[in-house]
Amino acid sequence: MSDQTTVTYSTIDANEAVASVAYRFSEVIAIYPITPSSPMGESAESWAAVNRKNLWGTVPSVVEMQSEGGAAGTVHGALQTGALATTFTASQGLLLMIPNMFKIAGELTPAVFHVAARSLAYQALSIFGDHSDVMSARSCGWAMLCGSSTQEAADFAAISHAATLESRIPFINFFDGFRTSHEIGKIADITDDTLNGMMIKQEWLDSFRERALTPDAPVLRGTAQNPDVYFQGRETVNRFYEATPAIVQNAMDKFAELTGRSYHLVDYTGAPDAERVIILMGSGAEAVEETVEAMMTRENAKVGVLKVRLFRPFPAAELVKALPATVRKIAVLDRTKEPGSQGEPLHQDIIQALFDAQANGTLPFTNGMPKVVGGRYGLSSKEFTPAMVKGVYDNLALDTPKNHFTIGINDDVLGTSLPYDEDYSTEADDVTRAMFFGLGSDGTVGANKDAIKIIGQHTNLYVQGYFVYDSKKSGSSTISHLRFGPRPIKSTYLITKANFLALHQPSLLDLFDFLKNAANGATFLMNSPHPADKLWDTLPARMQQQILDKNIKLYTIDAFAVARKTGMGGRINMIMQTCFFKLASVIPADEAIGYIKKAIAKTYAKKGQEVVDKNIAAVDATLENLHQVDTTGKTVNGHAIPPAMSPDAPDYVQNVLGKMMCGEGDSIPVSQMPVDGTFPNGTSQYEKRNLALDLPEWDPTLCIQCGKCTAVCPHAVIRSKFFSPDALANAPEGFECLDAKHPDWKGEKFVIQISPNDCTGCTLCADVCPAKSKTDPTHKALTMVPAGKIHDKEEANWNFFLSLPDVDRTKVRTDNIRSMQVLRPLFEFSGACAGCGETPYVKMLSQLFGNRLVVANATGCSSIYGGNLPTTPWSHDSEGRGPAWANSLFEDNAEFGLGFRVSLDKQMEHAIELLHEAAGAVGQELVDRILANPQKDEADIAQQRENIEELKKKNRRQAGIRAPPGPLRINLSARACGFWAATAGPTTSATAAWTTFWPAAGT
Ligand code: SF4
Ligand code: SF4
Repeated sequence: MSDQTTVTYSTIDANEAVASVAYRFSEVIAIYPITPSSPMGESAESWAAVNRKNLWGTVPSVVEMQSEGGAAGTVHGALQTGALATTFTASQGLLLMIPNMFKIAGELTPAVFHVAARSLAYQALSIFGDHSDVMSARSCGWAMLCGSSTQEAADFAAISHAATLESRIPFINFFDGFRTSHEIGKIADITDDTLNGMMIKQEWLDSFRERALTPDAPVLRGTAQNPDVYFQGRETVNRFYEATPAIVQNAMDKFAELTGRSYHLVDYTGAPDAERVIILMGSGAEAVEETVEAMMTRENAKVGVLKVRLFRPFPAAELVKALPATVRKIAVLDRTKEPGSQGEPLHQDIIQALFDAQANGTLPFTNGMPKVVGGRYGLSSKEFTPAMVKGVYDNLALDTPKNHFTIGINDDVLGTSLPYDEDYSTEADDVTRAMFFGLGSDGTVGANKDAIKIIGQHTNLYVQGYFVYDSKKSGSSTISHLRFGPRPIKSTYLITKANFLALHQPSLLDLFDFLKNAANGATFLMNSPHPADKLWDTLPARMQQQILDKNIKLYTIDAFAVARKTGMGGRINMIMQTCFFKLASVIPADEAIGYIKKAIAKTYAKKGQEVVDKNIAAVDATLENLHQVDTTGKTVNGHAIPPAMSPDAPDYVQNVLGKMMCGEGDSIPVSQMPVDGTFPNGTSQYEKRNLALDLPEWDPTLCIQCGKCTAVCPHAVIRSKFFSPDALANAPEGFECLDAKHPDWKGEKFVIQISPNDCTGCTLCADVCPAKSKTDPTHKALTMVPAGKIHDKEEANWNFFLSLPDVDRTKVRTDNIRSMQVLRPLFEFSGACAGCGETPYVKMLSQLFGNRLVVANATGCSSIYGGNLPTTPWSHDSEGRGPAWANSLFEDNAEFGLGFRVSLDKQMEHAIELLHEAAGAVGQELVDRILANPQKDEADIAQQRENIEELKKKNRRQAGIRAPPGPLRINLSARACGFWAATAGPTTSATAAWTTFWPAAGT
């Protein structure tokens, strides 16, 4: 064993730790990014760029491919020609690799794929973690090792690379996406000495190289085989799989000698005489272990946990042997769902292992065959807490434990869920637990990562950093969960009893229940523009009550003011980080501030001394502006929390989407979720984010009605309309407009209007506005002003603007910006980044064709800002027409869109046939009118819609028309537009006629 005094530690996440091992073991690395595995490929690429060498003293070739399928093919080719090769992936990316994975395994080729396990896209995409991807790859013939923590993921990477060379079986080294891949921990470094030569024998490498394809000794590999020999060929590999578990155990033993960290194919922890045992894989095992320790200490419970490390080849005999002889009941937890199966994969494997042991007469249990139940937990990174673990053990304590259960959700449809006590906690008193609330891209997460590194590097404390952000591109909230403690931290779940909390963004004040997770006596730091002696009265009543009830110490700083004064603009991350070190007392504040300054000098050195100095000045100015708020004698006098959703929103939006919005989505029961992933559109209008510190103010006296501001706005926040002067009778005070200049709108009024609650303050509209005052060129028709100055007035104006009828599309020319910008956008208030350059085009598409548009959206930025719950920006007009939107995958977008096109063309063709057939009954003149309509402009389309209405009035049965074979939809001409494919166009076809006719007349 190595001398433990020489162990060095790094504070990193599993992606970085695993990539470091994989890089050093590889000569070719083929990559393709997919969340949450992308940082592994990025690290490999950046190390190669600075010529970092692998174990053999050469820089690996890192090749970025066009897809995961391409990456797997490249790895396959590299392996066949004698290079050690690897890749990183997740989710459907892994599935794209499967065709090559069968080949790699079939050819007995050593390789390791590192997988940050992620949910598969079923009814919805999810970037978060579970095992549904790796479980889909379990028939490929690859060995599968699963780590439960950052340290284990890295250690198993090393063990996999060694074992694959000896066994010739390729390995998937997997660990939980986000919970492990992105959790920052303090882990022991795996040195080159550990890896180099000691884990890998030269003879394994020589034998791998000798099998490489070479014209010096040509062979043919990958033949086509026939029924006479294929079957036998498949059976040749059995002895390799049989040998693999022992090879893995040997590699684990060798690794233990080198590092002191000991692993087995399965590891049991808990009472030696346990009667109730949970079996599982991945990060959840850490939470179970923590709960087992607590239950044994508190209740002397006879419980234990068995962690499966090697999932394939399944180590059945070792598993049965590792269970305590006293076990009576077992719960097998799977972090995946296999619809229609007898049980999830691990559950089935355990039952098979036990029955085989019984059949062989090797069942070692004193009470005979244990009762085994299975359940699902933690899909898509759903929290898995000690409270839930306790619920599973409580289920096992029943005479008849529930089988095929779920834990952590409320399944009120089939009643599969287990009850549990949400207040059950195993958090130790000597662990500091801190939560920070910020906005995406505001620097909060980055500052917290720095804080963890400072504490990890400069103290003996163990650290854990986990960051929760939804997949919105920007402007959404982030919550950082940091733990610091004297022992390795096994709490693989979010903090529920924080002793330090910080609100970095005042705009979030009314959105979340921040103090719900505050421990008694916690410290709460608020960034607020209000002075300490005035702050109390600005707080919501709920927060005031919690501060008094929980004896919370309240501190405040106007971080934005400090940032402005020290030249930092809106960057408050260093200021808030300094406050944290002062108040949390994890290490002496002076010491911490020294480390912060060193980190600043290092981080910003490239940006110049001026930037470094400004950051240091901000740190120095922080503490004098940090104040404690005296809460002595305070009473609850604050405001009520406004509803998260507009009260005008439909019930479903308020009661379901509204819960997601304010962070209570976990409480939504199964019955309230759509069975097929279909959601109403046009819901982003009800989510009022109020992000902008500055808003654009319109000066109609300068406006030239060019439409540039509305065209450029990424969020459809600034709009224009022409309308009848009569409508002004109901206008609120302060509503401004002017005579429309466009010749087609003579006699009408024209207005530019913003929605102040939806503006992101990106300034694009004001930047692009060409109309300047002659006397003051800084004053334009649009000028950014502090939000408080115009917010309330513009809110009333916006409501009035919405009440004005949408413009008559037949009066709008669509061949120039000035005119077409008055069309109503049917893509509005998306969660795209402030200043996004894509969304103005998407919005314009929705203006031009939105009421007859079908969108096949590829997976990526546009599917996230376009289709990320809780609210979505694709909308509909006052007649209910709007873009119909669907997302298939990343890689099949063009084909998905082509499917729309082919289908709609076919439906049009059929509808025309049926119309001809029905001519006698519905009238030849009407049929001719429908079929002859060119549908080239808005007037044609409006006319065609009238034709359809007329057709709908005919009775199908009287007319003797055959039913169409299925629902027929509006046909639209296809146009692939890069990242998405939309079918849109100038035709509302005869198909549409039939579509609307059939249901109306068929009753
Ligand atoms: S500031 Fe940005 S988001 Fe706000 S109205 Fe102008 S362009 Fe739109
Ligand atoms: S860009 Fe300026 S001038 Fe043009 S319509 Fe907008 S406010 Fe008026």
